[in-house]
Amino acid sequence: MSESSPSSIPSDCWPVVIVGGGPVGLALAALLARQGVRSRVIEAGEGFCRGSRATCISRRAQEILSWAGAEHALVATGLPWAGGCSFWRDVEVLRFRVPAESTRRFAPMLNIQQYRLEQILDGVLQRAAELTQVSRGCRAVAVRSGPDLVEVDVESAQGRETLRAQFIVACDGARSTVREQLGLQLEGTGYEGRYVIVDIAQKTRRPVERLAWFDPPSNAGATIVMHRQPDDMWRIEYQLRDDEDPVEAVRPEQVLPRVQAHLRMIGEDEPWQVLSIAPYEARSMTLRQYRQGRVFLAGDAAHLVPIFGMRGLNSGLEDAGNLAWKLARVIEGTAPERLLDSYSAERAAAAHDNLAHGAKSTALMAPANFAFRLMREAALRLAVNDPAVRPLIKGRPATPGTYASSPLNIPQQGDWADDMAGPGAPAPEALLQGARGSFHLTQCFGKDFVCLVFGDGPLPKAVGELPALGIGVLDIPPEADQASEAWVRYGLPDPQGQGLVLVRPDGYVMGRWRGLDPAGLVAAMAGTGLAQ
Ligand SMILES: Cc1cc2nc3c(=O)[nH]c(=O)nc-3n(C[C@H](O)[C@H](O)[C@H](O)COP(=O)(O)OP(=O)(O)OC[C@H]3O[C@@H](n4cnc5c(N)ncnc54)[C@H](O)[C@@H]3O)c2cc1C
Repeated sequence: MSESSPSSIPSDCWPVVIVGGGPVGLALAALLARQGVRSRVIEAGEGFCRGSRATCISRRAQEILSWAGAEHALVATGLPWAGGCSFWRDVEVLRFRVPAESTRRFAPMLNIQQYRLEQILDGVLQRAAELTQVSRGCRAVAVRSGPDLVEVDVESAQGRETLRAQFIVACDGARSTVREQLGLQLEGTGYEGRYVIVDIAQKTRRPVERLAWFDPPSNAGATIVMHRQPDDMWRIEYQLRDDEDPVEAVRPEQVLPRVQAHLRMIGEDEPWQVLSIAPYEARSMTLRQYRQGRVFLAGDAAHLVPIFGMRGLNSGLEDAGNLAWKLARVIEGTAPERLLDSYSAERAAAAHDNLAHGAKSTALMAPANFAFRLMREAALRLAVNDPAVRPLIKGRPATPGTYASSPLNIPQQGDWADDMAGPGAPAPEALLQGARGSFHLTQCFGKDFVCLVFGDGPLPKAVGELPALGIGVLDIPPEADQASEAWVRYGLPDPQGQGLVLVRPDGYVMGRWRGLDPAGLVAAMAGTGLAQ
């Protein structure tokens, strides 16, 4: 692989061209802008996505969106939630809550319509116009990848033009043109079941939570999931029976009576109107590699996850968070190009985990055959009276994966109390006290490497030299960590202990060392080629 220097790049060449201005492409452009990297987004559509798509944004995805500059609008618009209820027929069989932690920066989940998220990200990019150009109504039609540059042919109302870039990232969704151009194939399975996704406008006073009914009296045999969305909207998902024609089933005359019966059953009697109806088929698929030369694939272009685990967009945003800092370091010449291979290694492994969890959620929400249906019914019957069975009917919420076998991990030095914050783990959150008041640890991530320093007393001089290597330093003495969250979560429950934890720009732990001497850290970073 060639190691082109920034000075050899022609002046008409973009550092990064992003094909697809959906939420993943826009978030990637915003994250690159935060790193000071110019990019051009090519979006086929004239506006934002229509109809019902992603709604539930995980805590990890909210962190990434905050690094992209979307935090305030996201929190002001979205509906946070932390639990849910499941019913079998008309009996409540499960009520779950993620334990409330006032020290967390974001809710476990936040509901927001995908088009509103795209609007927010578009606003962020308009404020970063000196670095980012978003071209709407432009369709990428061909891609040619060379050793030093990559070209993409783009068609718009103005005609056809060829863009040149150091790197291209395909964020062009499930039917990715770039993926097809490269001759890459998604691998995995499709599910037999057919679903209907309905958005309606209706006022409600219900709390925001995930609501699920299995075989409700309103729609015998169906599974119905409801999510509240901003602007007095509900998203309703239900599976069709095997004997139903999926084309007929999305006709309003079929859908409206079903929705009405369900709203009546749950006591929602405010007037309502339907906003969108769409069919949905679940697919569990991924590419083997997310990099081919100078072209990267991210979001739905790289992997498709059934909606029931709420992992599609959330994992796409994790792709963007993973890739942005790596591209930035390589483009600015402070890291070798091989750093980019770790994107594929880490995110393709994460996709396999997501697909496994997504498959479990799908089997629960929409069993594929008679045997699964029978097992689920048995679990639901038992869950009415037996709390021990209830975990079986609770899907696992979207949580960030651990990059356990990442090539970037530096083997940890010394003994640590637990592996929650070992190399490859998402860096835990904590609320800290600083000179200017309290702040969250995750506010310090998202741009540079950060060395967390757990110690008491003056820092060794060598720690003060880390910023010259491109590594920020965050001193966390015990008095800054009044709830002892950071010390415990990073594996140092004993306040006499001392340690250094290196966190990557995307908020993942890269390595940790006992004691306060950074010599091991500096040597390891030099070995990776990542120290400036
Ligand atoms: C009903 C439903 C509910 C869902 N709910 C959730 C949820 O709650 N949580 C969650 O995490 N995920 C959810 N998802 C999944 C989520 O919507 C997708 O994972 C997400 O849209 C992926 O974003 P993306 O940017 O990768 O792709 P897309 O959103 O598909 O965006 C791709 C963009 O590329 C553009 N494009 C395509 N081809 C070209 C081309 N040749 N040139 C230029 N531009 C091009 C398209 O116009 C589009 O704007 C849901 C999906 C569905 C269908």
